[in-house]
Amino acid sequence: MGIRALSVCLVSFLALSGAFSQNAAAQVFPEKFVKSMRGELTQGGLVILTLQPDARALYNGRTLPQYENQVVLGFGRDAPLEQSLLFTLGETARAIDFQLKQRAYVEQRIDGLPPAFVTPPPDALVKIKREAANKRKARSELTLQGGFAEAFVWPVAGRITGVYGSRRFYNGEPRRPHYGIDIAAPAGTPVKAPAAGRVTLASPDMYFEGGLIFVDHGLGVTSVFMHLETLAVTVGEKVNQGDIIGTVGSTGRSTGPHLDWRMYWADRRIDPALLAPPR
Ligand SMILES: [Zn+2]
Repeated sequence: MGIRALSVCLVSFLALSGAFSQNAAAQVFPEKFVKSMRGELTQGGLVILTLQPDARALYNGRTLPQYENQVVLGFGRDAPLEQSLLFTLGETARAIDFQLKQRAYVEQRIDGLPPAFVTPPPDALVKIKREAANKRKARSELTLQGGFAEAFVWPVAGRITGVYGSRRFYNGEPRRPHYGIDIAAPAGTPVKAPAAGRVTLASPDMYFEGGLIFVDHGLGVTSVFMHLETLAVTVGEKVNQGDIIGTVGSTGRSTGPHLDWRMYWADRRIDPALLAPPR
């Protein structure tokens, strides 16, 4: 596969249903604590639980923050399949064990890359380190806002050239898994906010990501948009679903114009394709 054949990022297809569906929470979580659940209990997945009034949910010993009785829970690429939530309501407390669906991840080989693309030169390390700190800081504040609960839309239309979780090889060398979804689109194509939120990072020239935007959707759910040609928003700005935040480009470590869309819940990387409608 030639370098020009595929527009993918170099920051290091399994199609799930993608439907962010409403399930009967009672199947997994007792109705005494949980009114309803949306999303899939799967590796890379994100679920929204609407709790009964005054109910609380604890995950790994920490109370999950609430927004309008809703809590969010996300699972990383390799999250343990055996999971547990502790619910409390008044004097009652109950631990509920549940099972995640196991994902299978594909392999993606990208060859013919210039060596400097694969291994950053030593003089880039200061910039890379500083940017990593800025990114962590941008995601450090937990906000109470409701964008996470909207029905997400795709930020751009286009061919999918990279999927979440794939094992990546650059010039034959194994690298970190790919955590985004790569969507090929002509440079200059508008990128839309998939849901409402607040811009927490807007930087035109990151080493790996090039033009980079973070949008905080609340309760620790953050969208990441990479390789942008232009940015149309600034830090602190509020966006609504569908607002144009920038344009598709090939900035940073990228082999051609595309959008790499990623999502976090807290520090877990989740699969954006599971939130957007099936395509
Ligand atoms: Zn990518």
